[in-house]
Amino acid sequence: MAKEKLVLASKNKGKIREFTEIFNNYEIIPYTDLGIDVDPDETGETFFDNALIKAKTISQICNLPVLADDSGLCVDALGGAPGVYSARFSGLGDDENNKKVLALLEGETNRKANFTCALVLYKPDGTVIGVEGKTYGTILHQVQGNNGFGYDVIFYSEDINKCFGLATPEEKNEVSHRARAIKKIKQYL
Ligand code: IMP
Repeated sequence: MAKEKLVLASKNKGKIREFTEIFNNYEIIPYTDLGIDVDPDETGETFFDNALIKAKTISQICNLPVLADDSGLCVDALGGAPGVYSARFSGLGDDENNKKVLALLEGETNRKANFTCALVLYKPDGTVIGVEGKTYGTILHQVQGNNGFGYDVIFYSEDINKCFGLATPEEKNEVSHRARAIKKIKQYL
């Protein structure tokens, strides 16, 4: 029997691989494979809003169920920043984003932070399933390692007791915000 189709609202190769492995009883189709050429504006104020914008926009074009995620780093002492602005915090890419967080936290003793991932499934009949996954830790005083991407090199995970920048993909995937959100949404599928 043919597998049910689930469209993924992402162009990121790492995410496409991760979702395909985890949702092995579905046929995961990256939306660009359907010839869809939109990049919905992430204008929401929350991770959930942004994931919903992406999933709904693409589902309304292809008329199939669409999965979308949105994620970022939230630092307690910065009132949850960079949050939904994580990718564009400095406007100058990952290295400068990390430098900006470290500079803003200079002299700060509360270094608690978390990565959050909102994951939304939008179906053509208007059904919305939304879940959130989080992973907790602290912001280091300097960069450690060069594994992962984004803010991984300044984030010390309290789950694995090491910086994500020093963790293997397997170690990070055991405890990551994205993996936790994916595990939750699988219960609804
Ligand atoms: P997006 O969900 O792919 O749009 O990710 C938004 C931004 O959040 C990324 O560009 C990174 O800066 C940050 N981010 C999200 N997840 C992670 C992670 O697992 N490690 C490090 N940075 C992350």
